[in-house]
Amino acid sequence: MANPFDLTGKVALVTGANTGLGQGMAVALAEAGADVCLVGRSAPDETVAKIEALGRRAHVILADLCSADGVGAIVAETVSALGGIDILVNNAGIIKRNDSIDFTFDEWDAVMNVNLRTLFFLSQAAAREMMKSGKGGKIVNIASMLSFQGGIRVPSYTASKSGVAGLTKILANEWAGHGINVNAIAPGYFATNNTAALQADETRNTEILGRIPAGRWGDPSDLGGAIVFLASRASDYVQGITLPVDGGWLAR
Ligand code: NAP
Repeated sequence: MANPFDLTGKVALVTGANTGLGQGMAVALAEAGADVCLVGRSAPDETVAKIEALGRRAHVILADLCSADGVGAIVAETVSALGGIDILVNNAGIIKRNDSIDFTFDEWDAVMNVNLRTLFFLSQAAAREMMKSGKGGKIVNIASMLSFQGGIRVPSYTASKSGVAGLTKILANEWAGHGINVNAIAPGYFATNNTAALQADETRNTEILGRIPAGRWGDPSDLGGAIVFLASRASDYVQGITLPVDGGWLAR
């Protein structure tokens, strides 16, 4: 049986891939054989170097995803530069911390726009292209433990990531018949910029580590297996799931 995880000849679009989880997943997709379009507001030089060192092609699109304007052009450029779009990874995301009692409209809108609104319209633009090509495709959204739990002092983040789990299901329902798989990964606690404040807070750091059965923060490379699975034909009959990759956090 040919390797069901092989992505040779596939094109992936990954948002927010200059650092952190996006970089880890972009490199994992390239290791599995995919060429990768990297979309974000900061130049992803290190990620490009890692992908090219694997012998794969990398194409960069600099764009601020705080607005969904222009997502159609991002998909069109991916297709013209790399020859198609088979995989979309909606990774770019932000978090704002403040007591709910003091939370502002700006803190609400900034998070919801990047984490949910742009994710939806980029998925729509990619799905239109996947339907047009007749080849279907794979869409993987990056959710969170706060797709399952409430969290504290991050109301717009919890709303957005709970929304990501819901959107993953509705889009799977609507697009499965077109050969498009829509699923999500819910990372646990990973050592990236997004969690820098938690890692630096000695009390929170000890509390978090004490609850993770694996006993350590996740490394971006820990998402490699899950992203390749959900981006490959190995997951052709998997639809609408939010897969925790959390060192056992939710099992506690
Ligand atoms: P990160 O290191 O802060 O990376 C976030 C990425 O998103 C960066 O590439 C960032 O670009 C990009 N981004 C943010 N706003 C953007 C915008 N307006 N336009 C374009 N790109 C934008 O965080 P991370 O931990 O890797 O997070 C990646 C995803 O995983 C997020 O959706 C996050 O919510 C989710 N997540 C993370 C954890 C964790 O423990 N780390 C856990 C659960 C879920 P810049 O560098 O230019 O800001």
